[in-house]
Amino acid sequence: MPRRTKLIVTLGPATESEEVIGQLLDMGANVFRLNMSHAKHEWAREMAKRVRAQAATREIYAAVLFDLTGPSIRTGDLPTPYDLKIGDLVEFRKTGTEPSIELSTTVNYDGLMDDVAEGRTLVVDNGTMLMLIQTKKEDRIICEVKTAGKLGSRRHINLPGTRLNLPALTEKDRVDLALAVECDADYIAGSFVRDAAHVRELRGLIEAAESTAQVVAKIEDQEAIRNIDSIIQATDVIMIARGDLGVEVDFEELPILQRRIIKRCHELGKRVIVATQLLESMITNPTPTRAEVTDVANAAYEEADALMLSGETSVGLNPLRCMDALVRITTRIERTGGLGFGQSVLLRDERQKAARAAVTLVDSLPDARLIVLTRRGVMANHTAMLRPKTNGFYAFTPKERVCRQLAMTRNIEAFKLHFAATIDETIQRAIDLLRSKNLVRPGTPLVIVSDILSDHFAANSILLHHA
Ligand code: PGA
Ligand code: MN
Repeated sequence: MPRRTKLIVTLGPATESEEVIGQLLDMGANVFRLNMSHAKHEWAREMAKRVRAQAATREIYAAVLFDLTGPSIRTGDLPTPYDLKIGDLVEFRKTGTEPSIELSTTVNYDGLMDDVAEGRTLVVDNGTMLMLIQTKKEDRIICEVKTAGKLGSRRHINLPGTRLNLPALTEKDRVDLALAVECDADYIAGSFVRDAAHVRELRGLIEAAESTAQVVAKIEDQEAIRNIDSIIQATDVIMIARGDLGVEVDFEELPILQRRIIKRCHELGKRVIVATQLLESMITNPTPTRAEVTDVANAAYEEADALMLSGETSVGLNPLRCMDALVRITTRIERTGGLGFGQSVLLRDERQKAARAAVTLVDSLPDARLIVLTRRGVMANHTAMLRPKTNGFYAFTPKERVCRQLAMTRNIEAFKLHFAATIDETIQRAIDLLRSKNLVRPGTPLVIVSDILSDHFAANSILLHHA
């Protein structure tokens, strides 16, 4: 049985060789993520090239995702880390100012002092240290350490519940975005997206650069949660970025938010990625914890489009074992069915209703297959969102770019096909291709849904054929 849940791997020192990229593709990796918080430009260029080359020799369509750093708040450089004890006072000050107490570091965001209030909590280094803001001055804040820890250089700061006036994209993001476009990225992700205007700004820059890369909006804080509907509407794909989100909200809220966002993405017809710490312990261990197995199975059961590995494959000791674990867990849970949010998709137009009718038809015929003929992938994505139960769900499109972008979409396998002058001939070509790959047998019922038909035969965009 083919796997439905798509898998994203983050490339890094542990996976950068052509050989390992090839192995990851052979094991079923669908999307390769380049994390611009760490990647140098020369390296990212080379990685994009390697992914494309390895995929091409295998005749596989894999997408490349450039993940922009976004406007994160970070501490400055320290010659040696501070060992902080409970009750210590630590100062965070604007760049270019002098320390006023012994334990002092700069922050990269000058607006911090304006956005925060005394009595608020600062979370430092991805949740490891909590600090209470005691005094706020124009150019610095002084905090009391509430949990002990080591404060190193360029540590990440979160401010749960505080509305920040950070820009959507930094200068670095703009430079990295130009690189993504140069490398023909299939997806570009915006980090710390807080409202729909941020998504539109990112999309505007992508379009201004004449790229057709699709947009991923990473949901990482409470403000994004508040604006979730408009962000989902503005983006192509949502990423539930549980790393930062898990710091910004009480952790017991995470599973609720994950499920709610996945449901809402289904309703509004957008794809969704579950990211971060899926197999965290495997960075060092050869097998996942029982809790990780259950978490991965849950995300696949919720019928997310894709699951993402970060440190597990970029710097971990067992990247291939991680892939193997994801493949095993997802294919197994998929045999039990899914949560069924595809039933709640809000159908907005005739085309979407036609897609629903096609899915109902294919799911009612034993061993039937679903075929979508799609130019831009829109109809393919919409049909996939209805979560058809068939084990054969194929998209045909003339564009290789669309094939690569559909690597992110749950359950669908895309093929490049030159559309013929007539619909009958196009369908015959699609069937020939599936037959040549042994994906259908003579007589297999095929439900064909198409948005290319609708121009000519508005009333006839669902067809039932036999291979
Ligand atoms: P990051 O985003 O890995 O770029 O921080 C993902 C997350 O926060 O979960
Ligand atoms: Mn993050």
